[in-house]
Amino acid sequence: MLLLDDFLRYVKIDTQSDENSSTSPSTFKQYDLLNLLKKELDELGVENTLDEFGRLYGYIPGNDKHDCVGLCSHVDTALECSGKDVKPQIIKNYNGNDIPLGDSGLFLSKNDFPKLNECLNKTVITTDGTTLLGADDKAGIAIIKEVIRNVLKMDKSSRRPLAVLFTPDEEIGRGPEHFNLALYKAKFAYTIDGADPKYISFENFNAKSINVHIIGKSIHPGEGKDKLINAILLMNEFISYLPKDMIPYKTSGREGFNHIVSIKGDVENAEAYFILRNHDSNILKKQVDDFLLAKEKIEKEYKEAKIELSIKDQYRNMIEVIEKHPDCKTLIENIYKKMNIPFEYEATRGGTDGATFSFMNCPCPNLGTGSYNHHGRYEFAVLEEMELMSKIVTEIYKI
Ligand SMILES: [Zn+2]
Repeated sequence: MLLLDDFLRYVKIDTQSDENSSTSPSTFKQYDLLNLLKKELDELGVENTLDEFGRLYGYIPGNDKHDCVGLCSHVDTALECSGKDVKPQIIKNYNGNDIPLGDSGLFLSKNDFPKLNECLNKTVITTDGTTLLGADDKAGIAIIKEVIRNVLKMDKSSRRPLAVLFTPDEEIGRGPEHFNLALYKAKFAYTIDGADPKYISFENFNAKSINVHIIGKSIHPGEGKDKLINAILLMNEFISYLPKDMIPYKTSGREGFNHIVSIKGDVENAEAYFILRNHDSNILKKQVDDFLLAKEKIEKEYKEAKIELSIKDQYRNMIEVIEKHPDCKTLIENIYKKMNIPFEYEATRGGTDGATFSFMNCPCPNLGTGSYNHHGRYEFAVLEEMELMSKIVTEIYKI
């Protein structure tokens, strides 16, 4: 089966990105897959361009009376777990038992991952417990390849034009760099980079970061009364002024959070780095106000202390853009309805490449891949769900 063959071929290629690199793509091994995909597009007769930054664009012409719709997946894999020497295990007719992951001593079990309850008698593809699988996002790439094959079988006049984009470096937030909309030609697009096929995602977090730098005053502690301003203690106090329950540990769904990522310091200087997330941009503004208020309180009490806040915008919720371009929403919704497939909206608790594309004039919701537990050894994919996604996405191009 071509879909499975493609998927297994892609996951065996190590394409991990590197957040410490400044080149584009961040690692040259991503070209091992990009060049293969280019060759495969050539063989299928799909016109394509691999640019100097490792972005691979493909285009299949169709009936010009209909808008060109794009598809997008990323070739890189996550940093948290190695993607080298991936040895996928294929479990056909899954019988519901725990699945041993090679000789690693790890098991994929229904108790830990209830999704497996829905996978009885299906084909489940897992790791051997030593690497991630890389279904994020090679399942997306394999699905797009299957869609391309299906679309090429359609008559040109009865299909919608299809634009394809394979990007490197999504996992380090640099996928949309160098994005060339003129080359892509899509009026809107879909990233195929989610999990369960039943979820359609038009929403992601609005995201800001705040670096808090507190400058104290160090003198001999024996002489410190009313003079020694300890930056470490002030940082502690600063954090205590922030809302206690607005943290990842206590939030889910549409609740946003402030997350302290790192802290370092001594008596004279203390620095803490926070990320702030909320689907609602007005609430996100209030979260920033909490930081400004904490700064004010401390500076009022300790006149000689100095607090610098460096506030940066990171990404925005694509819903702002999608609401102005409802066609990308109605098109996919109508397909799920026509195919009688139940669907739900999912507000992604993170960012997506599609969010950034959306603000670059290419609205770009996210669809599922039929793969789960991304970024680690327990990652797995369900072949039947990948097939279902390729059928759903193929429908986009039938006019
Ligand atoms: Zn991904």
